[in-house]
Amino acid sequence: MIKVPAPDSEPVRTYAPESRERETLQAAVAQLKQQPCHIPMIIGGQAFHSEHRSPIHCPHDHQLQLGHYNCAEARHADTAIKAALDARAGWQALPWRCRAAVFLKAAELAAGPWRDRLNAATILGQSKTVHQAEIDSACELVDFFRFNVYFAEQIYAQQPMSAGVAWNYQEYRPLDGFIFAATPFNFTAIAANLPTAPALMGNTVIWKPSERAVLSSYLVMELLIEAGLPAGVVNFLPTDNPGEVGSAILADASLAGIHFTGSTRTFNYLWREIANNLEHYRNYPRLVGETGGKDFVFAHPSAAVQPLVTALIRGAFEYQGQKCSAASRGYIPQSLWDVVINGLGNQLEGLRVGPACDFNNFMSAVIDRRAYEQISGYIEFARGDADYTILYGGEYSDDKGYFIRPTVIATRNPSARLMTEEIFGPVLTLYCYEDDAMEQVLRELDEATPYALTGAVFARDRAAIELISQRLNQSAGNFYINDKPTGAVVGQQPFGGGRKSGTNDKAGSTLNLLRWVSVRTVKENFVPDTDYRYPHMG
Ligand code: NAD
Repeated sequence: MIKVPAPDSEPVRTYAPESRERETLQAAVAQLKQQPCHIPMIIGGQAFHSEHRSPIHCPHDHQLQLGHYNCAEARHADTAIKAALDARAGWQALPWRCRAAVFLKAAELAAGPWRDRLNAATILGQSKTVHQAEIDSACELVDFFRFNVYFAEQIYAQQPMSAGVAWNYQEYRPLDGFIFAATPFNFTAIAANLPTAPALMGNTVIWKPSERAVLSSYLVMELLIEAGLPAGVVNFLPTDNPGEVGSAILADASLAGIHFTGSTRTFNYLWREIANNLEHYRNYPRLVGETGGKDFVFAHPSAAVQPLVTALIRGAFEYQGQKCSAASRGYIPQSLWDVVINGLGNQLEGLRVGPACDFNNFMSAVIDRRAYEQISGYIEFARGDADYTILYGGEYSDDKGYFIRPTVIATRNPSARLMTEEIFGPVLTLYCYEDDAMEQVLRELDEATPYALTGAVFARDRAAIELISQRLNQSAGNFYINDKPTGAVVGQQPFGGGRKSGTNDKAGSTLNLLRWVSVRTVKENFVPDTDYRYPHMG
Protein backbone atom coordinates (compact mmCIF):
# COMPACT_ATOMS: atom_id res chain seq x y z
CA MET A 1 0.00 0.00 0.00
CA ILE A 2 1.90 2.99 -1.27
CA LYS A 3 0.95 6.32 0.34
CA VAL A 4 1.31 9.63 -1.48
CA PRO A 5 2.97 12.54 0.35
CA ALA A 6 0.50 14.46 2.55
CA PRO A 7 -0.21 17.69 0.67
CA ASP A 8 0.23 21.15 2.12
CA SER A 9 -0.84 24.50 0.68
CA GLU A 10 2.04 26.13 -1.14
CA PRO A 11 3.21 29.18 0.88
CA VAL A 12 2.60 32.55 -0.81
CA ARG A 13 5.75 34.57 -1.41
CA THR A 14 5.53 38.29 -0.67
CA TYR A 15 8.05 39.78 -3.13
CA ALA A 16 8.80 42.55 -0.64
CA PRO A 17 11.19 45.30 -1.78
CA GLU A 18 14.85 44.25 -1.79
CA SER A 19 13.98 40.55 -1.39
CA ARG A 20 15.83 37.95 -3.44
CA GLU A 21 12.52 36.49 -4.75
CA ARG A 22 11.55 39.92 -6.11
CA GLU A 23 14.88 40.26 -7.86
CA THR A 24 14.73 36.86 -9.58
CA LEU A 25 11.11 37.34 -10.65
CA GLN A 26 11.89 40.75 -12.13
CA ALA A 27 14.78 39.19 -14.04
CA ALA A 28 12.40 36.51 -15.42
CA VAL A 29 9.95 39.23 -16.51
CA ALA A 30 12.75 41.15 -18.25
CA GLN A 31 13.93 38.03 -20.02
CA LEU A 32 10.46 37.12 -21.27
CA LYS A 33 10.05 40.65 -22.62
CA GLN A 34 13.29 40.42 -24.56
CA GLN A 35 12.85 36.93 -25.99
CA PRO A 36 9.61 36.55 -27.94
CA CYS A 37 8.19 33.05 -27.64
CA HIS A 38 7.28 31.03 -30.76
CA ILE A 39 4.66 28.57 -29.69
CA PRO A 40 3.84 25.40 -31.60
CA MET A 41 0.98 22.97 -31.13
CA ILE A 42 2.07 19.82 -29.31
CA ILE A 43 0.40 16.69 -30.65
CA GLY A 44 1.57 13.20 -29.71
CA GLY A 45 4.67 14.77 -28.20
CA GLN A 46 5.63 16.45 -31.49
CA ALA A 47 5.72 20.17 -32.26
CA PHE A 48 3.35 21.15 -35.08
CA HIS A 49 3.32 24.42 -37.00
CA SER A 50 0.72 25.95 -39.30
CA GLU A 51 0.61 28.65 -41.95
CA HIS A 52 -1.62 30.70 -39.72
CA ARG A 53 -0.02 32.36 -36.69
CA SER A 54 -1.43 34.72 -34.14
CA PRO A 55 0.52 37.35 -32.18
CA ILE A 56 0.54 37.49 -28.37
CA HIS A 57 0.24 41.00 -26.96
CA CYS A 58 0.76 42.25 -23.44
CA PRO A 59 -2.54 43.71 -22.14
CA HIS A 60 -0.89 46.54 -20.15
CA ASP A 61 1.35 47.47 -23.08
CA HIS A 62 -0.38 46.42 -26.28
CA GLN A 63 2.56 47.44 -28.47
CA LEU A 64 4.69 44.87 -26.69
CA GLN A 65 4.53 41.62 -28.63
CA LEU A 66 5.49 38.61 -26.52
CA GLY A 67 5.66 36.20 -29.43
CA HIS A 68 3.19 34.29 -31.52
CA TYR A 69 1.46 30.92 -31.58
CA ASN A 70 0.66 28.51 -34.35
CA CYS A 71 -3.08 28.20 -34.77
CA ALA A 72 -4.71 24.79 -34.91
CA GLU A 73 -7.29 24.05 -37.58
CA ALA A 74 -9.83 21.22 -37.87
CA ARG A 75 -7.25 18.88 -39.41
CA HIS A 76 -4.98 19.33 -36.38
CA ALA A 77 -7.90 18.44 -34.14
CA ASP A 78 -8.27 15.15 -36.03
CA THR A 79 -4.54 14.43 -35.61
CA ALA A 80 -4.77 15.26 -31.91
CA ILE A 81 -7.76 12.94 -31.41
CA LYS A 82 -5.81 10.10 -32.99
CA ALA A 83 -2.77 10.87 -30.82
CA ALA A 84 -4.90 10.94 -27.66
CA LEU A 85 -6.59 7.63 -28.52
CA ASP A 86 -3.25 6.01 -29.39
CA ALA A 87 -1.74 7.08 -26.07
CA ARG A 88 -4.60 5.65 -23.97
CA ALA A 89 -3.50 2.04 -23.62
CA GLY A 90 0.04 2.87 -22.46
CA TRP A 91 -1.06 5.57 -20.02
CA GLN A 92 -3.82 3.43 -18.49
CA ALA A 93 -1.52 0.47 -18.15
CA LEU A 94 0.88 2.37 -15.89
CA PRO A 95 0.36 1.79 -12.17
CA TRP A 96 -1.39 4.87 -10.82
CA ARG A 97 1.60 5.83 -8.69
CA CYS A 98 3.52 6.42 -11.96
CA ARG A 99 0.85 8.86 -13.13
CA ALA A 100 0.88 10.47 -9.69
CA ALA A 101 4.66 10.82 -9.81
CA VAL A 102 4.46 12.91 -13.00
CA PHE A 103 2.16 15.45 -11.33
CA LEU A 104 4.03 15.44 -8.02
CA LYS A 105 7.18 16.21 -9.97
CA ALA A 106 5.36 18.92 -11.93
CA ALA A 107 4.31 20.45 -8.57
CA GLU A 108 7.89 20.57 -7.32
CA LEU A 109 9.16 22.05 -10.59
CA ALA A 110 6.45 24.72 -10.49
CA ALA A 111 7.12 25.50 -6.84
CA GLY A 112 10.87 25.78 -7.46
CA PRO A 113 12.79 26.21 -10.71
CA TRP A 114 9.76 27.07 -12.88
CA ARG A 115 8.06 29.43 -10.48
CA ASP A 116 9.52 32.69 -11.78
CA ARG A 117 8.89 31.80 -15.41
CA LEU A 118 5.27 30.81 -14.77
CA ASN A 119 4.66 33.98 -12.79
CA ALA A 120 6.43 36.15 -15.36
CA ALA A 121 4.28 34.71 -18.17
CA THR A 122 1.13 35.38 -16.15
CA ILE A 123 2.25 38.93 -15.30
CA LEU A 124 3.08 39.79 -18.92
CA GLY A 125 0.57 37.68 -20.84
CA GLN A 126 -2.47 38.19 -18.59
CA SER A 127 -1.48 41.40 -16.76
CA LYS A 128 -1.73 39.97 -13.26
CA THR A 129 0.00 41.94 -10.56
CA VAL A 130 2.73 40.09 -8.74
CA HIS A 131 0.50 38.96 -5.86
CA GLN A 132 -2.28 37.84 -8.20
CA ALA A 133 0.20 35.91 -10.33
CA GLU A 134 1.80 34.30 -7.28
CA ILE A 135 -1.50 33.00 -5.83
CA ASP A 136 -2.49 31.68 -9.26
CA SER A 137 0.40 30.47 -11.41
CA ALA A 138 2.54 29.42 -8.46
CA CYS A 139 0.43 28.46 -5.43
CA GLU A 140 -2.91 27.35 -6.87
CA LEU A 141 -1.25 25.49 -9.70
CA VAL A 142 1.07 23.63 -7.31
CA ASP A 143 -1.84 22.91 -4.97
CA PHE A 144 -3.95 21.44 -7.78
CA PHE A 145 -1.19 18.99 -8.68
CA ARG A 146 -0.38 17.97 -5.09
CA PHE A 147 -3.93 17.79 -3.74
CA ASN A 148 -5.38 16.00 -6.76
CA VAL A 149 -2.88 13.20 -6.27
CA TYR A 150 -3.94 12.94 -2.64
CA PHE A 151 -7.65 12.96 -3.57
CA ALA A 152 -7.08 10.30 -6.24
CA GLU A 153 -5.56 8.06 -3.60
CA GLN A 154 -8.68 8.48 -1.47
CA ILE A 155 -10.90 7.55 -4.42
CA TYR A 156 -8.94 4.42 -5.25
CA ALA A 157 -9.14 3.36 -1.61
CA GLN A 158 -12.97 3.42 -1.59
CA GLN A 159 -14.02 -0.20 -2.02
CA PRO A 160 -17.26 -2.11 -1.50
CA MET A 161 -17.93 -4.74 1.17
CA SER A 162 -17.28 -8.37 0.51
CA ALA A 163 -19.56 -11.00 2.03
CA GLY A 164 -19.60 -14.80 2.19
CA VAL A 165 -17.52 -16.56 -0.40
CA ALA A 166 -17.14 -13.61 -2.76
CA TRP A 167 -14.59 -10.84 -3.05
CA ASN A 168 -15.89 -7.52 -4.45
CA TYR A 169 -13.87 -4.61 -5.66
CA GLN A 170 -14.10 -1.52 -7.82
CA GLU A 171 -11.77 -0.56 -10.59
CA TYR A 172 -11.71 3.17 -11.25
CA ARG A 173 -11.22 3.03 -15.00
CA PRO A 174 -10.63 6.15 -17.06
CA LEU A 175 -13.47 7.05 -19.41
CA ASP A 176 -13.81 5.14 -22.66
CA GLY A 177 -12.57 7.78 -25.10
CA PHE A 178 -10.73 11.10 -24.92
CA ILE A 179 -11.42 14.24 -22.89
CA PHE A 180 -11.66 17.76 -24.31
CA ALA A 181 -10.36 20.48 -21.96
CA ALA A 182 -11.21 24.08 -22.98
CA THR A 183 -9.71 26.58 -20.58
CA PRO A 184 -10.33 30.24 -19.64
CA PHE A 185 -7.88 33.12 -19.79
CA ASN A 186 -8.14 34.30 -16.23
CA PHE A 187 -6.34 31.59 -14.23
CA THR A 188 -3.13 29.84 -15.27
CA ALA A 189 -3.88 27.30 -12.52
CA ILE A 190 -7.35 26.48 -13.88
CA ALA A 191 -5.84 26.12 -17.34
CA ALA A 192 -3.38 23.63 -15.85
CA ASN A 193 -5.99 21.75 -13.83
CA LEU A 194 -8.56 21.12 -16.54
CA PRO A 195 -6.40 18.85 -18.71
CA THR A 196 -4.39 17.32 -15.87
CA ALA A 197 -7.20 16.26 -13.49
CA PRO A 198 -8.62 13.81 -16.09
CA ALA A 199 -5.08 12.78 -17.09
CA LEU A 200 -4.22 11.90 -13.50
CA MET A 201 -7.18 9.50 -13.47
CA GLY A 202 -5.79 7.74 -16.56
CA ASN A 203 -7.49 9.66 -19.37
CA THR A 204 -5.88 11.21 -22.40
CA VAL A 205 -6.78 14.76 -23.29
CA ILE A 206 -6.97 17.43 -25.95
CA TRP A 207 -6.26 20.78 -24.39
CA LYS A 208 -7.44 23.89 -26.17
CA PRO A 209 -6.01 26.80 -24.18
CA SER A 210 -7.66 30.20 -24.21
CA GLU A 211 -6.55 32.32 -27.15
CA ARG A 212 -6.14 35.13 -24.60
CA ALA A 213 -3.62 33.29 -22.40
CA VAL A 214 -1.53 31.10 -24.69
CA LEU A 215 1.84 32.07 -23.23
CA SER A 216 1.33 30.81 -19.68
CA SER A 217 -0.58 27.77 -20.95
CA TYR A 218 2.32 26.83 -23.18
CA LEU A 219 4.73 27.07 -20.25
CA VAL A 220 2.48 24.70 -18.31
CA MET A 221 2.61 22.29 -21.26
CA GLU A 222 6.40 22.48 -21.31
CA LEU A 223 6.49 21.96 -17.56
CA LEU A 224 4.39 18.79 -17.89
CA ILE A 225 6.73 17.46 -20.56
CA GLU A 226 9.73 18.11 -18.34
CA ALA A 227 7.93 16.35 -15.49
CA GLY A 228 7.76 13.24 -17.66
CA LEU A 229 4.24 13.30 -19.09
CA PRO A 230 4.29 10.74 -21.92
CA ALA A 231 3.62 11.83 -25.50
CA GLY A 232 -0.06 12.04 -26.45
CA VAL A 233 -1.46 12.12 -22.92
CA VAL A 234 -2.13 15.86 -23.19
CA ASN A 235 -2.25 17.35 -26.68
CA PHE A 236 -1.93 21.12 -26.84
CA LEU A 237 -4.00 22.88 -29.51
CA PRO A 238 -3.89 26.69 -29.36
CA THR A 239 -6.04 28.44 -31.94
CA ASP A 240 -7.64 31.78 -32.64
CA ASN A 241 -10.59 29.92 -34.13
CA PRO A 242 -12.01 27.87 -31.24
CA GLY A 243 -15.27 27.30 -33.12
CA GLU A 244 -13.54 25.35 -35.90
CA VAL A 245 -11.38 23.24 -33.59
CA GLY A 246 -14.23 22.76 -31.14
CA SER A 247 -16.63 21.52 -33.83
CA ALA A 248 -14.12 18.97 -35.10
CA ILE A 249 -13.60 17.65 -31.58
CA LEU A 250 -17.28 17.57 -30.65
CA ALA A 251 -18.07 15.64 -33.82
CA ASP A 252 -15.87 12.69 -32.86
CA ALA A 253 -17.59 9.51 -31.66
CA SER A 254 -14.89 8.92 -29.03
CA LEU A 255 -15.51 12.14 -27.11
CA ALA A 256 -15.92 10.92 -23.52
CA GLY A 257 -16.03 14.17 -21.59
CA ILE A 258 -15.58 17.92 -21.52
CA HIS A 259 -13.70 19.73 -18.79
CA PHE A 260 -14.58 23.36 -19.30
CA THR A 261 -14.24 26.65 -17.49
CA GLY A 262 -15.36 29.83 -19.19
CA SER A 263 -18.48 31.77 -19.97
CA THR A 264 -21.99 30.40 -19.60
CA ARG A 265 -22.62 31.25 -23.25
CA THR A 266 -19.78 29.02 -24.49
CA PHE A 267 -20.75 26.16 -22.18
CA ASN A 268 -24.37 26.36 -23.34
CA TYR A 269 -23.13 26.15 -26.91
CA LEU A 270 -20.94 23.11 -26.17
CA TRP A 271 -23.79 21.37 -24.34
CA ARG A 272 -26.19 22.02 -27.26
CA GLU A 273 -23.67 20.71 -29.81
CA ILE A 274 -23.19 17.58 -27.75
CA ALA A 275 -26.95 17.07 -27.54
CA ASN A 276 -27.12 17.41 -31.34
CA ASN A 277 -24.41 14.77 -31.78
CA LEU A 278 -25.71 12.43 -29.10
CA GLU A 279 -26.71 9.50 -31.34
CA HIS A 280 -23.24 9.51 -32.78
CA TYR A 281 -21.21 9.09 -29.55
CA ARG A 282 -20.08 5.79 -28.07
CA ASN A 283 -20.68 7.13 -24.54
CA TYR A 284 -22.74 9.84 -22.93
CA PRO A 285 -19.97 12.43 -22.61
CA ARG A 286 -19.40 13.71 -19.07
CA LEU A 287 -19.97 17.46 -19.04
CA VAL A 288 -18.13 19.38 -16.36
CA GLY A 289 -18.31 23.14 -16.73
CA GLU A 290 -17.65 25.98 -14.34
CA THR A 291 -19.05 29.16 -15.83
CA GLY A 292 -20.08 32.74 -15.13
CA GLY A 293 -21.11 34.57 -11.99
CA LYS A 294 -22.71 37.72 -10.67
CA ASP A 295 -21.28 37.47 -7.21
CA PHE A 296 -22.72 39.37 -4.29
CA VAL A 297 -21.76 40.92 -1.00
CA PHE A 298 -24.66 41.35 1.38
CA ALA A 299 -24.09 43.67 4.32
CA HIS A 300 -26.31 43.37 7.39
CA PRO A 301 -26.79 46.48 9.57
CA SER A 302 -24.58 44.78 12.20
CA ALA A 303 -21.63 44.49 9.78
CA ALA A 304 -18.20 45.81 10.76
CA VAL A 305 -17.54 48.55 8.23
CA GLN A 306 -13.78 48.45 7.69
CA PRO A 307 -13.59 44.70 6.87
CA LEU A 308 -16.63 45.18 4.59
CA VAL A 309 -14.98 48.04 2.68
CA THR A 310 -11.73 46.11 2.33
CA ALA A 311 -13.58 43.01 1.11
CA LEU A 312 -15.49 45.08 -1.45
CA ILE A 313 -12.28 46.56 -2.83
CA ARG A 314 -10.28 43.37 -2.91
CA GLY A 315 -13.25 41.23 -3.93
CA ALA A 316 -14.35 43.51 -6.77
CA PHE A 317 -11.10 44.90 -8.14
CA GLU A 318 -8.27 42.41 -7.72
CA TYR A 319 -7.23 41.11 -11.13
CA GLN A 320 -9.37 43.94 -12.52
CA GLY A 321 -12.57 42.13 -11.55
CA GLN A 322 -11.77 39.35 -14.03
CA LYS A 323 -12.41 36.55 -11.58
CA CYS A 324 -15.51 34.44 -11.91
CA SER A 325 -15.86 34.95 -8.15
CA ALA A 326 -15.38 38.75 -8.20
CA ALA A 327 -17.85 40.79 -6.15
CA SER A 328 -19.90 42.74 -8.66
CA ARG A 329 -23.07 43.63 -6.75
CA GLY A 330 -23.36 44.80 -3.18
CA TYR A 331 -26.39 45.24 -0.92
CA ILE A 332 -25.76 47.91 1.71
CA PRO A 333 -28.28 48.91 4.41
CA GLN A 334 -29.33 52.53 4.53
CA SER A 335 -27.91 52.83 8.07
CA LEU A 336 -24.37 52.00 6.83
CA TRP A 337 -24.57 53.56 3.37
CA ASP A 338 -22.74 56.86 3.99
CA VAL A 339 -19.95 55.38 6.04
CA VAL A 340 -19.37 52.54 3.55
CA ILE A 341 -19.36 54.89 0.56
CA ASN A 342 -16.97 57.29 2.30
CA GLY A 343 -14.75 54.37 3.31
CA LEU A 344 -14.60 53.18 -0.30
CA GLY A 345 -13.78 56.69 -1.48
CA ASN A 346 -10.92 57.05 0.99
CA GLN A 347 -9.30 53.81 -0.11
CA LEU A 348 -9.93 54.11 -3.84
CA GLU A 349 -8.38 57.57 -4.03
CA GLY A 350 -4.83 56.29 -3.71
CA LEU A 351 -5.37 52.95 -5.42
CA ARG A 352 -2.74 52.46 -8.09
CA VAL A 353 -3.58 51.12 -11.54
CA GLY A 354 -0.76 50.54 -14.04
CA PRO A 355 1.59 48.04 -15.66
CA ALA A 356 1.63 44.68 -13.92
CA CYS A 357 5.44 44.59 -14.01
CA ASP A 358 5.50 47.59 -11.66
CA PHE A 359 5.14 45.79 -8.34
CA ASN A 360 3.70 48.89 -6.63
CA ASN A 361 0.43 48.64 -8.54
CA PHE A 362 -2.70 47.08 -7.06
CA MET A 363 -4.45 46.69 -10.43
CA SER A 364 -3.42 46.46 -14.05
CA ALA A 365 -5.06 46.24 -17.47
CA VAL A 366 -7.99 44.10 -18.61
CA ILE A 367 -7.18 41.23 -20.91
CA ASP A 368 -7.78 42.68 -24.40
CA ARG A 369 -9.64 45.17 -26.55
CA ARG A 370 -12.82 43.10 -26.63
CA ALA A 371 -12.98 43.04 -22.82
CA TYR A 372 -12.06 46.74 -22.64
CA GLU A 373 -14.88 47.71 -24.98
CA GLN A 374 -17.44 45.53 -23.24
CA ILE A 375 -16.60 46.86 -19.79
CA SER A 376 -16.36 50.50 -20.82
CA GLY A 377 -19.66 49.97 -22.66
CA TYR A 378 -21.29 49.10 -19.34
CA ILE A 379 -19.79 52.21 -17.74
CA GLU A 380 -21.12 54.44 -20.53
CA PHE A 381 -24.51 52.76 -20.33
CA ALA A 382 -24.62 53.55 -16.60
CA ARG A 383 -23.49 57.13 -17.22
CA GLY A 384 -26.38 57.71 -19.58
CA ASP A 385 -29.12 56.03 -17.54
CA ALA A 386 -31.03 57.64 -14.70
CA ASP A 387 -31.05 54.36 -12.76
CA TYR A 388 -27.36 54.82 -11.89
CA THR A 389 -24.91 57.24 -10.30
CA ILE A 390 -21.19 56.73 -10.83
CA LEU A 391 -19.66 57.30 -7.41
CA TYR A 392 -15.99 56.56 -8.13
CA GLY A 393 -13.92 55.74 -11.20
CA GLY A 394 -15.59 55.52 -14.58
CA GLU A 395 -12.38 56.59 -16.37
CA TYR A 396 -10.60 54.38 -18.86
CA SER A 397 -7.87 54.63 -21.46
CA ASP A 398 -6.38 52.33 -24.07
CA ASP A 399 -3.47 54.58 -25.07
CA LYS A 400 -0.84 52.22 -23.78
CA GLY A 401 -2.74 49.28 -22.32
CA TYR A 402 -6.38 48.42 -21.61
CA PHE A 403 -6.73 50.31 -18.33
CA ILE A 404 -10.01 50.87 -16.50
CA ARG A 405 -10.16 52.61 -13.12
CA PRO A 406 -12.00 50.74 -10.35
CA THR A 407 -15.57 51.90 -10.72
CA VAL A 408 -18.29 52.02 -8.07
CA ILE A 409 -21.83 52.71 -9.19
CA ALA A 410 -24.95 53.23 -7.06
CA THR A 411 -28.42 52.20 -8.09
CA ARG A 412 -31.88 52.33 -6.53
CA ASN A 413 -33.10 49.47 -8.74
CA PRO A 414 -32.17 45.95 -7.54
CA SER A 415 -33.01 44.40 -10.91
CA ALA A 416 -31.10 46.98 -12.96
CA ARG A 417 -28.86 45.63 -15.72
CA LEU A 418 -25.64 46.28 -13.80
CA MET A 419 -27.02 44.36 -10.81
CA THR A 420 -27.89 41.30 -12.89
CA GLU A 421 -25.45 40.81 -15.82
CA GLU A 422 -21.88 39.50 -15.57
CA ILE A 423 -19.54 42.35 -16.55
CA PHE A 424 -16.20 40.63 -15.82
CA GLY A 425 -14.33 43.84 -15.15
CA PRO A 426 -13.63 46.34 -12.35
CA VAL A 427 -17.20 47.56 -11.93
CA LEU A 428 -19.04 47.21 -8.61
CA THR A 429 -22.69 48.19 -8.41
CA LEU A 430 -24.17 48.93 -4.99
CA TYR A 431 -27.81 48.90 -4.01
CA CYS A 432 -28.95 50.74 -0.90
CA TYR A 433 -31.76 48.93 0.94
CA GLU A 434 -34.00 50.02 3.80
CA ASP A 435 -32.86 48.28 6.98
CA ASP A 436 -36.32 46.85 7.67
CA ALA A 437 -36.70 45.39 4.14
CA MET A 438 -34.06 42.68 4.49
CA GLU A 439 -36.29 39.68 3.77
CA GLN A 440 -37.51 41.18 0.53
CA VAL A 441 -33.99 42.19 -0.53
CA LEU A 442 -32.69 38.67 0.09
CA ARG A 443 -35.42 37.35 -2.22
CA GLU A 444 -34.49 39.92 -4.86
CA LEU A 445 -30.81 39.04 -4.51
CA ASP A 446 -31.56 35.35 -5.00
CA GLU A 447 -33.76 35.90 -8.05
CA ALA A 448 -31.89 38.73 -9.76
CA THR A 449 -29.49 36.66 -11.88
CA PRO A 450 -29.28 33.25 -13.51
CA TYR A 451 -25.99 32.61 -11.67
CA ALA A 452 -25.13 31.08 -8.29
CA LEU A 453 -21.35 31.07 -7.97
CA THR A 454 -20.03 32.99 -4.95
CA GLY A 455 -21.44 35.34 -2.37
CA ALA A 456 -20.58 36.86 0.98
CA VAL A 457 -22.45 38.10 4.01
CA PHE A 458 -21.03 40.64 6.42
CA ALA A 459 -22.64 40.73 9.86
CA ARG A 460 -21.78 40.53 13.54
CA ASP A 461 -25.22 39.40 14.62
CA ARG A 462 -25.04 35.57 14.73
CA ALA A 463 -28.78 35.04 14.27
CA ALA A 464 -28.71 37.30 11.22
CA ILE A 465 -25.79 35.35 9.74
CA GLU A 466 -27.76 32.14 10.17
CA LEU A 467 -30.93 33.55 8.66
CA ILE A 468 -29.15 35.08 5.66
CA SER A 469 -27.17 31.90 5.09
CA GLN A 470 -30.41 29.87 5.01
CA ARG A 471 -32.27 32.28 2.75
CA LEU A 472 -29.36 32.25 0.28
CA ASN A 473 -28.58 28.58 0.43
CA GLN A 474 -29.03 28.05 -3.33
CA SER A 475 -27.63 31.45 -4.34
CA ALA A 476 -23.94 30.51 -4.25
CA GLY A 477 -21.79 27.38 -4.44
CA ASN A 478 -19.10 29.13 -2.39
CA PHE A 479 -20.49 31.19 0.46
CA TYR A 480 -18.36 33.42 2.68
CA ILE A 481 -19.11 34.81 6.10
CA ASN A 482 -17.25 38.03 6.89
CA ASP A 483 -14.81 37.49 4.04
CA LYS A 484 -14.52 38.52 0.40
CA PRO A 485 -16.12 36.15 -2.12
CA THR A 486 -12.84 35.50 -3.99
CA GLY A 487 -9.65 33.61 -3.20
CA ALA A 488 -10.77 29.98 -2.82
CA VAL A 489 -7.84 27.73 -1.91
CA VAL A 490 -7.50 24.18 -3.24
CA GLY A 491 -8.20 21.65 -0.50
CA GLN A 492 -9.74 24.32 1.74
CA GLN A 493 -12.69 25.79 -0.19
CA PRO A 494 -13.51 23.39 -3.09
CA PHE A 495 -14.80 25.66 -5.81
CA GLY A 496 -17.87 25.78 -8.05
CA GLY A 497 -21.41 27.07 -8.30
CA GLY A 498 -24.89 25.99 -9.30
CA ARG A 499 -27.62 27.26 -11.60
CA LYS A 500 -26.03 28.86 -14.71
CA SER A 501 -22.65 29.08 -12.95
CA GLY A 502 -21.90 25.50 -13.85
CA THR A 503 -22.19 21.87 -12.90
CA ASN A 504 -20.66 22.50 -9.45
CA ASP A 505 -18.21 19.64 -9.65
CA LYS A 506 -15.83 21.41 -7.26
CA ALA A 507 -12.44 21.76 -8.91
CA GLY A 508 -9.62 20.42 -6.76
CA SER A 509 -11.61 17.81 -4.85
CA THR A 510 -12.57 14.14 -4.98
CA LEU A 511 -15.95 15.22 -6.44
CA ASN A 512 -14.25 16.55 -9.56
CA LEU A 513 -11.92 13.59 -10.00
CA LEU A 514 -14.85 11.18 -9.73
CA ARG A 515 -16.23 12.65 -12.96
CA TRP A 516 -13.18 11.32 -14.83
CA VAL A 517 -13.58 7.67 -13.92
CA SER A 518 -16.04 5.01 -14.90
CA VAL A 519 -16.22 2.33 -12.26
CA ARG A 520 -16.06 -1.35 -13.09
CA THR A 521 -17.34 -3.48 -10.23
CA VAL A 522 -15.83 -6.93 -10.03
CA LYS A 523 -17.19 -9.87 -8.02
CA GLU A 524 -15.06 -12.95 -7.76
CA ASN A 525 -16.78 -16.02 -6.40
CA PHE A 526 -14.35 -18.35 -4.62
CA VAL A 527 -16.85 -21.21 -4.24
CA PRO A 528 -19.40 -21.07 -7.08
CA ASP A 529 -22.70 -22.97 -6.66
CA THR A 530 -22.94 -26.35 -8.34
CA ASP A 531 -26.70 -27.02 -8.21
CA TYR A 532 -29.40 -24.76 -9.74
CA ARG A 533 -32.09 -25.87 -7.20
CA TYR A 534 -32.92 -23.79 -4.09
CA PRO A 535 -33.77 -25.32 -0.69
CA HIS A 536 -37.40 -24.12 -0.85
CA MET A 537 -37.93 -26.38 -3.82
CA GLY A 538 -37.84 -29.40 -1.50
P1 NAD B 1 -14.86 31.97 -22.90
O1 NAD B 1 -16.14 31.26 -22.75
O2 NAD B 1 -14.76 33.08 -23.86
O3 NAD B 1 -13.71 30.95 -23.29
C1 NAD B 1 -13.45 29.77 -22.54
C2 NAD B 1 -12.80 28.74 -23.43
O4 NAD B 1 -13.77 28.26 -24.37
C3 NAD B 1 -11.65 29.30 -24.26
O5 NAD B 1 -10.63 28.33 -24.33
C4 NAD B 1 -12.29 29.52 -25.60
O6 NAD B 1 -11.37 29.49 -26.67
C5 NAD B 1 -13.21 28.31 -25.65
N1 NAD B 1 -14.26 28.43 -26.66
C6 NAD B 1 -14.95 29.53 -27.03
N2 NAD B 1 -15.83 29.21 -28.02
C7 NAD B 1 -15.67 27.88 -28.27
C8 NAD B 1 -16.26 26.97 -29.17
N3 NAD B 1 -17.20 27.37 -30.03
N4 NAD B 1 -15.84 25.68 -29.17
C9 NAD B 1 -14.90 25.28 -28.31
N5 NAD B 1 -14.30 26.09 -27.42
C10 NAD B 1 -14.68 27.38 -27.40
O7 NAD B 1 -14.45 32.46 -21.41
P2 NAD B 1 -13.21 33.41 -20.98
O8 NAD B 1 -13.48 34.79 -21.45
O9 NAD B 1 -11.92 32.77 -21.31
O10 NAD B 1 -13.35 33.37 -19.40
C11 NAD B 1 -14.19 34.22 -18.71
C12 NAD B 1 -15.43 33.51 -18.27
O11 NAD B 1 -15.06 32.36 -17.54
C13 NAD B 1 -16.28 34.34 -17.33
O12 NAD B 1 -17.63 34.18 -17.67
C14 NAD B 1 -15.99 33.72 -15.96
O13 NAD B 1 -17.03 33.90 -15.03
C15 NAD B 1 -15.78 32.30 -16.31
N6 NAD B 1 -14.96 31.60 -15.32
C16 NAD B 1 -15.60 30.76 -14.46
C17 NAD B 1 -14.87 30.10 -13.48
C18 NAD B 1 -15.57 29.17 -12.52
O14 NAD B 1 -14.90 28.43 -11.82
N7 NAD B 1 -16.89 29.20 -12.46
C19 NAD B 1 -13.49 30.30 -13.37
C20 NAD B 1 -12.88 31.17 -14.29
C21 NAD B 1 -13.62 31.81 -15.26
